[in-house]
Amino acid sequence: MVIGILKEQNFNRVSLAPSASKKLAGMGLEAVIESGAGEKSGFGDHLYTDNSFTILTRIEVLSKSDIVLSIAPISDDELSKMKNGAIYISMFAPYQNAEIISHLSKFPLNVISMDMIPRTTLAQSMDILSSMASLSGYKAVLKAADHYNNMFPMMMTAAGTIPPTKVMILGAGVAGLQAIATAKRLGAVVEAFDTRAAAKEEVMSLGANFVEVDGAADDKGAGGYAIQQSDEYLAKQRALVQERALKSNIIIATAQVRGRKAPLLVTEDTIDNMKPGSVIVDLAASTGGNCAYTENNRTVIKNGVIIIGNSDLSDELNGVASTLYSNNVINFLQIVVKDGKASLNEENEIIKSALISKVN
Ligand code: NAD
Repeated sequence: MVIGILKEQNFNRVSLAPSASKKLAGMGLEAVIESGAGEKSGFGDHLYTDNSFTILTRIEVLSKSDIVLSIAPISDDELSKMKNGAIYISMFAPYQNAEIISHLSKFPLNVISMDMIPRTTLAQSMDILSSMASLSGYKAVLKAADHYNNMFPMMMTAAGTIPPTKVMILGAGVAGLQAIATAKRLGAVVEAFDTRAAAKEEVMSLGANFVEVDGAADDKGAGGYAIQQSDEYLAKQRALVQERALKSNIIIATAQVRGRKAPLLVTEDTIDNMKPGSVIVDLAASTGGNCAYTENNRTVIKNGVIIIGNSDLSDELNGVASTLYSNNVINFLQIVVKDGKASLNEENEIIKSALISKVN
């Protein structure tokens, strides 16, 4: 059985690292890869050939593989060039794109969406959303520090004392917690907002201040995910965010509710009154952003406040992001492939949840 890796068209990452070769061999898989697929991540073709991968053209990878891997979904034209009954593994975000599942059902393929793997302890090693969010949270703080015209730690010098930078984190999920840890390491004073009751302890354990807004909807039944809050709650939260934002220098915005538009937490009025030179990194940009002026994949400046809209900062850490993505995929394949044969057994909760379209 052949597994084929495609070169990403718009990402710097690659879906499988050369180091995966031993595990692939252990599963009885023969590996082929599109020429140049790993180059941007520091994995030249020679590293793949040294690890028993065969270098092919894109069309050869598509037509010869029984399992095809890419991070971003490929075009319909390319889907139709794959073998009948092949397994295609990518990220389709069906919770943001309801039509995608019925669209994919037109192709004779078994389609796995890695972002549908359940966020359970058992599936933790395959959780691509967590791997990538964690890197994005780290990079968001570095990016903010780089755009900020001041330094993070308090510093006492003969020329005067520099106060520490104040960082506010909106949303203390995977990305937000990594952002807190990174900002703390750089010496900032950090505070965070989240609607989930469980977030408070996690934020405090990282040494940050947790800002509570009364009246959050009970999220006990949501499996660890955030739920949509009432308009009244969000208005109250926006007022408190504004109060704190005016004292902050950096905002890292990560608040999202799966399948919905991101909550608007930083209004135009808030930004118009913030200190010029402040920096906002909005990781929720692709779902509308937490900040009124956010533009996805663009940096804008309003009232001297720099607003960076980017939900995919892990792609700027493409070496490590490719390695983690690769590890997540390999861990998933190990429950699917044995002795060179693939079985998509839907009695397995992880497979059932990730298999978004199948050959009947
Ligand atoms: P996410 O990216 O969907 O959202 C980021 C954060 O924004 C969440 O913490 C959410 O509560 C918060 N948020 C939503 N609305 C908000 C608002 N109005 N104000 C402030 N914050 C708001 O979340 P995620 O990082 O993907 O994590 C989602 C959940 O899944 C978390 O509880 C996380 O701990 C859990 N999780 C569990 C596992 C596991 O058990 N294996 C793995 C990963 C994540």
